[in-house]
Amino acid sequence: MQVWKFGGTSVGKPERMHSIRQLITSTETRKIVVLSALSGTTNALISIGEAAKANDEAEVNRQIDALKSHYDEFIQDLYQTDTGLAKGTEIVEKEFSFIRSLVQIKPFTSKQEKELVAEGELLSTQMFEAYLVEQGENSILLPALEFMRIDTEGEPELQTIEELLTSILEQHPDKQLIITQGFICRNPRGEVDNLKRGGSDYTASLIGGAIRAEEIQIWTDIDGMHNNDPRIVKRTFPIRELTFEEAAELAYFGAKILHPSTITPAKMRGVPVRLKNTMQPEAPGTLIANNSSDREIKAIAAKDNITAIYIHSTRMLNAYGFLRRVFEIFEKYKTPVDMITTSEVSVSVTIDNNTNLDAITAELREFADLEEHDTDQTIICIVGNFSADKEGVAHKVLDAMKHIPIRMISYGASEHNLSILIHAKQKAEALNVLNERLFYYEDAMKGIFTAP
Ligand code: ADP
Ligand code: ASP
Ligand code: MG
Repeated sequence: MQVWKFGGTSVGKPERMHSIRQLITSTETRKIVVLSALSGTTNALISIGEAAKANDEAEVNRQIDALKSHYDEFIQDLYQTDTGLAKGTEIVEKEFSFIRSLVQIKPFTSKQEKELVAEGELLSTQMFEAYLVEQGENSILLPALEFMRIDTEGEPELQTIEELLTSILEQHPDKQLIITQGFICRNPRGEVDNLKRGGSDYTASLIGGAIRAEEIQIWTDIDGMHNNDPRIVKRTFPIRELTFEEAAELAYFGAKILHPSTITPAKMRGVPVRLKNTMQPEAPGTLIANNSSDREIKAIAAKDNITAIYIHSTRMLNAYGFLRRVFEIFEKYKTPVDMITTSEVSVSVTIDNNTNLDAITAELREFADLEEHDTDQTIICIVGNFSADKEGVAHKVLDAMKHIPIRMISYGASEHNLSILIHAKQKAEALNVLNERLFYYEDAMKGIFTAP
């Protein structure tokens, strides 16, 4: 069995949904098909929730009406029969009347907000399943809310997901296509919750891990993982093979094509992940498994909204126990540290969640001096297999970055990652100069200017 996930743009137009039907029926393999919301819908629902929180009823109604018209038009082109269209209309009417009743609730809390954003995936999957039924496909819609579970920390419970999903699947042995929602889940209070923005990738990987699928395919709008962010960098190219570790680093450090946690369940259960392009299905995409291409430097990614905290030991040199005390505070406030650099008397760390920044710095000040922290920083992460790199990746990186101030460097924890911290305003320049130096320099020296 395989798990195929289609993102927002892949389901964002009626003709795209038609192509997805072609794709998922083009091979015999039994599939679980995970769908995101139509592109733009999750943002629209979040915005409706904000207007509801602000008690701006006119704005709420205006936005709901605009979103509903989009769906009314969409279903006109999605279905090809009157029966199909009648079913589609019933789905859209039912979900939008639920949305209208939800926004009446006062106060409008995060519980209602989560129910509201879940509507995106609930709409797309029901509409798509009705289309498959109209076309006579052997499919069924399994509600993700019946098996996707997270714990009190918001972390998925893979074991529970496995047990619930296995028993549900046993009830439908004859179904060839099993459709379900990405992103949404239930929390320990039984409420509707989600796996955070971009979470449908994570759903696919959790399902793939839970059922020990043969393969997980993430279908999106680009030909696999590129060597750099194609939205910012001029010359990028797809990478054909990555190891789980390389892909996990790139996703965690900002490659938007994958939700940051996607690789974990797949890697844990050894299920390969293939990234594919819905608009160009014949393109090979990227395979993430145990092998990697032999290129030494694979890719660059950037993670935004980083804060750097600079900590100096007040009392003694050679103080052991100092780092333990520092990290206990981050642990207490459940704030992960991404980068660390140390000197004899100082430690610098970065975090990407400022919720508890004031409490953390107040506690650090009890035994350390703190310099003013820097917000609005970006981590640039270079991933590859550096042991094979003769010239030295650090040399190339520093050479490329000679005109850009570097706040921190972290290298040596593994042979696969070099991270640098810079101010966010220099991100685009840094990604472009690194791209030219790390991927095109040798070719330029040899007079070859084509992409590798
Ligand atoms: P989906 O809606 O299918 O989940 P996303 O928009 O979340 O799609 O992710 C795909 C987008 O990720 C691409 O269109 C591309 O602009 C962006 N992206 C950022 N970094 C990379 C990268 N290194 N490789 C490929 N795509 C990337
Ligand atoms: N629809 C959700 C979002 O926009 C989940 C996803 O697309 O993966 O974040
Ligand atoms: Mg996405």
